[in-house]
Amino acid sequence: MEHANLPETNYDMIILGGGPAGYTAGIYAARAALKTLLIEGAGTVSQITITDMIENYPGIPGGIGGFELMQLFKEQAQKFGLEILPKDATGVRKISDAPAIWEVAAGDRTFTALSLIAATGAMWRSLGVPGETQFAGKGVSYCATCDGPFYRNRTVAVVGGGDTAIQEALFLTHFADKVIVIHRRDRLRAAGMLQNRAFAEKKIEFVWNATVEEITGSDFVTGVKVKDVRTGKIREIAADGAFIFVGRLPYTDLFKGLVAMDKTGFIQTDENLRTDAPGIFAAGDCRSKLFRQVVTAAGDGANAVHSAELYLDEVKGRVY
Ligand code: NAP
Repeated sequence: MEHANLPETNYDMIILGGGPAGYTAGIYAARAALKTLLIEGAGTVSQITITDMIENYPGIPGGIGGFELMQLFKEQAQKFGLEILPKDATGVRKISDAPAIWEVAAGDRTFTALSLIAATGAMWRSLGVPGETQFAGKGVSYCATCDGPFYRNRTVAVVGGGDTAIQEALFLTHFADKVIVIHRRDRLRAAGMLQNRAFAEKKIEFVWNATVEEITGSDFVTGVKVKDVRTGKIREIAADGAFIFVGRLPYTDLFKGLVAMDKTGFIQTDENLRTDAPGIFAAGDCRSKLFRQVVTAAGDGANAVHSAELYLDEVKGRVY
């Protein structure tokens, strides 16, 4: 039975974000015949599209380029008739309560929906030093799970001193002969247990009180120039790769003040990907969680749609 007084909206669901979480949500929503709009962003560069090679996405044993994989996600969503808007969403607001109706501004138009899926992603924080962009995908990496296996028996540098840097440095010891952690202070920010494991690992060396000044190389990375912050002295450390883990920035400004976020701005959800705002769900890298991968983003997208469907059924007053 449909709710007699349910206000009209353009859509059941609006998905914000055109990465793996957004497009997986799009595939599931369109296939479930929900009236759905995916706002994919006009010029946004998602992390996956600039990832050279993904070799751990299940079902693709030969690996695939990030851009190519994203095209396949999109093609699959379009096959199910997903409506896609290639514009940047510029605003989100609630225009009524009970049930909540959400209005999203994009381009010069506004759209309304009973549910939103925030799949706006995140971007690695970069160091902004010479060589970092030049050698991206040629020795500079922001993902050990993705690129670690390319460094078997090599030497790699890891920049950063937080949980991610230390966890990934430990992971890199499975492949590399030597992992040199370069940190700008004389103590790590990472959790004590991770620190203890790193200090006990013979393959890991630490370069303390050092900032990265440049990433050097010719075709591929050959080293990292560091400055000792106490003496100002600059030296070059030889390395075949430079993994940079100095934090990640979520694209969640649109949802500020609407949903609860952690202290770094990632959206908090329960295990069913519900935020604390009625009808808003979050999926993928913009969500506060431990493991950010294409496969976990895709899983989030599917789960978020499932939760949203249950919510929509409840709001529309359907009885099972
Ligand atoms: P983070 O905690 O913000 O740490 C960033 C690290 O990079 C810090 O050591 C920081 O140095 C350093 N840094 C920042 N900007 C820099 C720059 N321009 N040059 C050189 N170094 C710079 O980020 P994260 O490690 O990615 O962790 C993010 C969140 O996820 C944290 O809340 C973390 O606890 C959580 N996380 C948890 C786990 C786990 O529980 N296993 C795993 C991964 C991440 P300073 O220390 O000097 O500030």
